[in-house]
Amino acid sequence: MERHHIYSALVLRVRPSGESNRDAWFLTQEEGILKATVFGGPKSKFRALVSPFHQGRLWVYHNPVRDSRKLTDFDVQSWRLGIRENYQRTMTAGAILEVILASQGSGGNWPSAWGMANSTLDALDLAEEGACLRIFVHFLWSWALLLGIRPSLNRCASCTCEAPQDGLLLWNTYEGAVYCPSCAGVQEDPGALPPGAWVVLGLEVRRWLGAVENQAPAAAARYTLDARSLGQAKALVTSIMAGALGKRLPGWDRV
Ligand SMILES: [Zn+2]
Repeated sequence: MERHHIYSALVLRVRPSGESNRDAWFLTQEEGILKATVFGGPKSKFRALVSPFHQGRLWVYHNPVRDSRKLTDFDVQSWRLGIRENYQRTMTAGAILEVILASQGSGGNWPSAWGMANSTLDALDLAEEGACLRIFVHFLWSWALLLGIRPSLNRCASCTCEAPQDGLLLWNTYEGAVYCPSCAGVQEDPGALPPGAWVVLGLEVRRWLGAVENQAPAAAARYTLDARSLGQAKALVTSIMAGALGKRLPGWDRV
């Protein structure tokens, strides 16, 4: 039985394990999420190599009897030093890794998950501070498609009327569904809706998501969006993801 395996891997999380070892979680292109023990004290070369956001070739020894995995080597191919140079990039990238871990690496389509995760981190590595939140929204919107939970923003869930091209829609955070203003019971002022239950989706949000959804993450850095619409977009995508995960993740508030 073959016990040594080689993966293309992205480091998601590292935690101390015992006195001098560490546990590391990876997203791999071949098998999704994988956990391996990194042996060695403070002087181990793996201290610097095995660190979140790093991507490279991973060598793992698998003990089939104990079903435990041990890292035997890691050759970093992408360090993404730009992410650590900037607080906003670091917080945003950290929040993205949280989502990948909490959703078990998307649960099945590893090559797509792998491509999406790495292209998003590459875009963040070079991003202006102001673009970080747009890249985050793009990632959650793309990840929602991968998980099969991305809603259509074209139709009301109740009357199934097509959304007016110039009109707003409303996302119900409890039901995870989109409504037209009439079915949501809004006549004039959407600001009067109970906060927390509804997310107002103006035309700008729907246009922006439509423009970037089939493009690489770098497009989200290029296409700007006004602050109010960006707030609506973040509220929508985090609500969708919270519905899938059963909770909101703490890192989302730091993006
Ligand atoms: Zn309706």
